[in-house]
Amino acid sequence: MLTTNELERYDRQIMIRGLGEEGQEKLKRAKVIIAGGGGLGSPSSIYLAAAGVGTIRIVDHGSVELSNLNRQVLHWDKDIGRRKVASAAEKLKKLNPGVEIEAIEEVITEVNVSQLVADFDLIVDAMDNLPTRYLLNKAAIDKNIPFFHGAVYGFEGRAMTIIPGKSACLQCVYHGAVTPERKFPVIGVTPAVIGCIQAAEVIKYIAGIGELLTNRLLIYDGLNLKFTEFKVKKDPNCEHCGQQLRRGE
Ligand SMILES: [Zn+2]
Repeated sequence: MLTTNELERYDRQIMIRGLGEEGQEKLKRAKVIIAGGGGLGSPSSIYLAAAGVGTIRIVDHGSVELSNLNRQVLHWDKDIGRRKVASAAEKLKKLNPGVEIEAIEEVITEVNVSQLVADFDLIVDAMDNLPTRYLLNKAAIDKNIPFFHGAVYGFEGRAMTIIPGKSACLQCVYHGAVTPERKFPVIGVTPAVIGCIQAAEVIKYIAGIGELLTNRLLIYDGLNLKFTEFKVKKDPNCEHCGQQLRRGE
């Protein structure tokens, strides 16, 4: 049941056809884990908290640095040197005291990933490196949890929604390719666009409305303002979601 306060707070989105009070109650019951409290994690967590997603867990092990502030809008000048999860939790709680914010200060590894995502309904990929994305992708498939991929570089961004057992996963698309880890360019508006696309997908999935970004890799080119889509297919021999592997379990 929604309270009088919640009915007023979410009034304009409850008006959306198909969402309604029922969709809002689903958002309230939902538990979303956001892997990364930086450029992508900032907009996705802000908009999911604002929309009334009941439980949001943010995982990050970093501290706020001056050079983060051009894009990681959850963190402000006063937060330099603070743990990102503490800074994020403070802002999100102030934005919407009605949602549960869990701040987990950990590096996501092969050892802890499965425990970190356990009991959560959806996983948002707000990471900045491919190896951790693959860990999350695998954990999402193993635990049958929808996974919302996002990535940015300069003025360019990508997004894709992965529904385990139904749509292509990250491994199907990239086949485990890894780019060297190094500092890369980003302007804040790019993760803002991509993080909001991820948040929109999460809200749609929870409410059960619209068409998801599945089997489609969306490429956003901010410099020329173009959105391009690549059709992607589930790879039957995929190391993460392939049928042979699933049968062999
Ligand atoms: Zn796959």
